[in-house]
Amino acid sequence: MDKPYRVGYMLGDGIGPEIVPAARLTVERAVAVAGAPPLEWVELPMGASALEEHGSPMPAANKKILAECDGWLLGPHDSASYPKEWLERLERPPGGELRHFFDLYANLRPSRNRPGVSGVVGGVDLVTVRENTEGFYVDRNMVRGSGEFMPTPDTALVVGVFTRKAIRRIAVTAFELARTRRRHVTVVHKSNVIPLAFGLFVEECEAVGRDYPDVRLDAYLFDAMTAHLVRHPQDFDVIVAENMFGDTLSDLAGELVGGLGMSAALNAGDDHAMAQAAHGSAPDIAGQGISNPVGMMLSSAMLLTWMGTKHADPRLHEAATRIENAVDLTLENGPRTGDLGGSATTVEFAEAVEAAITDA
Ligand code: ATP
Ligand code: MG
Repeated sequence: MDKPYRVGYMLGDGIGPEIVPAARLTVERAVAVAGAPPLEWVELPMGASALEEHGSPMPAANKKILAECDGWLLGPHDSASYPKEWLERLERPPGGELRHFFDLYANLRPSRNRPGVSGVVGGVDLVTVRENTEGFYVDRNMVRGSGEFMPTPDTALVVGVFTRKAIRRIAVTAFELARTRRRHVTVVHKSNVIPLAFGLFVEECEAVGRDYPDVRLDAYLFDAMTAHLVRHPQDFDVIVAENMFGDTLSDLAGELVGGLGMSAALNAGDDHAMAQAAHGSAPDIAGQGISNPVGMMLSSAMLLTWMGTKHADPRLHEAATRIENAVDLTLENGPRTGDLGGSATTVEFAEAVEAAITDA
């Protein structure tokens, strides 16, 4: 018998206890239909409730258990709501802590128009590959700030870090991804004003590109890129960028296709990956059971794809594709949640996606 894959899940704050179980439901169904063994789920405490029960929003014991998992589903955390004395002691928010600890250096955020969701523009199908560990957000740390300091009370300095090693691995991630898509990578930079750091970034992406002669590589200045992305988003397939540019571009691309509840993300390293929707804990609608679980579902599908590649298991790839298709089928035919103009509850929507998986 196949050894089951282990997957962690953490509900988190706000709408987390609604969207994470909804995503889990669809993953279980998709894995079953694809003929893979049932996943072994491990629930772990995270967020405000973990803070109350275990004294930390991301208890240290979690990491030991997660190290034994291929990946996990992470719900949103509303760190801003934690008691002030905790915020002062918290080095990183829960998600940041796991990104740092497991060296999840790649943040992948796809943006694609979906049926029944009106975007600002049409024809978008791209993935932003954001470097997650350095650049201008060096080791984000809630206590000490992001690599910044004040030599005098009137001057603040902030450093950016660019290393060949980190650029190389994010470039490899982008090129590998491009090979599964339309074989086109766009590197975004600002080497005209920051020549050393972005010179290195572009140079290393080009060097990696020489190992992928079948993938087209082009480069855009960051400012020009924002305009191109709005006017001609169809021109892009995989976009690779340092931390801050990637943060900005992925939000922009996400907005182009509409709907924060739709935005998926995967934080991936060499050994582990974390599915975490790109939106926050949505405290304004939490507890009503009306949140949109699509972002969390699509993030979970990305995790299955990542695991499928890691274990060379086509069944996991099939399960991921089925979730993608079932989400589209459901968005097209209804029901939908309130943020998309419908009146379905999170559970009703999730059950509709679950039912659609068999034919997806
Ligand atoms: P954070 O500060 O945690 O990053 P945020 O305040 O930037 O989060 P969200 O918590 O994502 O943003 O919420 C922004 C708005 O989008 C809110 O009005 C929220 O209700 C809505 N929203 C976010 N995610 C969803 C979802 N999955 N379903 C429905 N509405 C959502
Ligand atoms: Mg907020």
